[in-house]
Amino acid sequence: MADYTQFLADEAASLAFAQKLASVLKPSLTVYLAGDLGAGKTTLTRGLLRAWGFAGTVKSPTYTIVESYELDGFKVEHFDLYRFQSPEEWLDAGLDELFDDNTIALIEWPQMAAGFVPAADVTVALSVQDAGRLCTIIPHTELAQKMLSPCL
Ligand code: ADP
Ligand code: MG
Repeated sequence: MADYTQFLADEAASLAFAQKLASVLKPSLTVYLAGDLGAGKTTLTRGLLRAWGFAGTVKSPTYTIVESYELDGFKVEHFDLYRFQSPEEWLDAGLDELFDDNTIALIEWPQMAAGFVPAADVTVALSVQDAGRLCTIIPHTELAQKMLSPCL
């Protein structure tokens, strides 16, 4: 499926892109946030939550595994699986229960729960390039591709 890459020169560019992305992501979608430590995954998540009207502090879920947000008419579950010792921890922690039609799931380090974490509708891959970030959007389904077309 076609993907799309753009350069985000600074944090403000990431937040502006997040605002655009926020307007097309809908409840029930699962989004993988791919990229190394410091690639800007949590920053993008903060931008999404701001755009969706969340005014509070967006904490990295590195230690808590998941942070949950009740927004206007839907929920956001923001996962960070970096500290998983084994993929089975996904089941032990009962994380499947956080997924439903009213929820957008944003998942950092999904590969740490390979085989257990729900499949993604879209992957947003970030990497450091010079002082900014390279951002690639990869839709995994025809429906996701259609929804994301304003961002592609
Ligand atoms: P991750 O969650 O991928 O580990 P963070 O979102 O915590 O990464 O971001 C790490 C750092 O990268 C932060 O200091 C943030 O300000 C910076 N950053 C995020 N996006 C960009 C960007 N587009 N250009 C430059 N720096 C960025
Ligand atoms: Mg992070």
